[in-house]
Amino acid sequence: MPVSKAFLQKKCRTTQRSIAARGGRLVNSAYESVNAPLTVECMRGHLFEASPKNIFRTWCPACHALDQKEMKIHLYARCSDWAKAQGGVLVSSAYESARSLMTWRCHRGHEWTASADNLRNKGSWCPTCAIAARAGRPRTRRQAANT
Ligand SMILES: [Zn+2]
Ligand SMILES: [Zn+2]
Repeated sequence: MPVSKAFLQKKCRTTQRSIAARGGRLVNSAYESVNAPLTVECMRGHLFEASPKNIFRTWCPACHALDQKEMKIHLYARCSDWAKAQGGVLVSSAYESARSLMTWRCHRGHEWTASADNLRNKGSWCPTCAIAARAGRPRTRRQAANT
């Protein structure tokens, strides 16, 4: 389907405006079709190519990677704080995803692996301590009954 020049110019202007709204800049302004890749400079100065259709869906891959990295650092800090709040430490040095296994250590020195999701959602902490606590309770009750 042939598209008019006026249509493309209009599309180009709206694309440029949307790019500007995201803090970016259109580097090559030759807007040929909705599928032809455009070069865009993002807010942080990275250059990337994407077709007008995909620009706003994917945006800058370098920024995306940076954001992911920052997010992981942020989530790692949250997990680490959470471990400290339980009196333990997060042994693993990086956060990969909510479902990836990380190593934790409780205040008694037990180490185990669990995902952040698991610990947060189930509210569980050291499994060894949990077993000891479960085993400890009936014994004290029995001991109390024997005396
Ligand atoms: Zn970027
Ligand atoms: Zn423990």
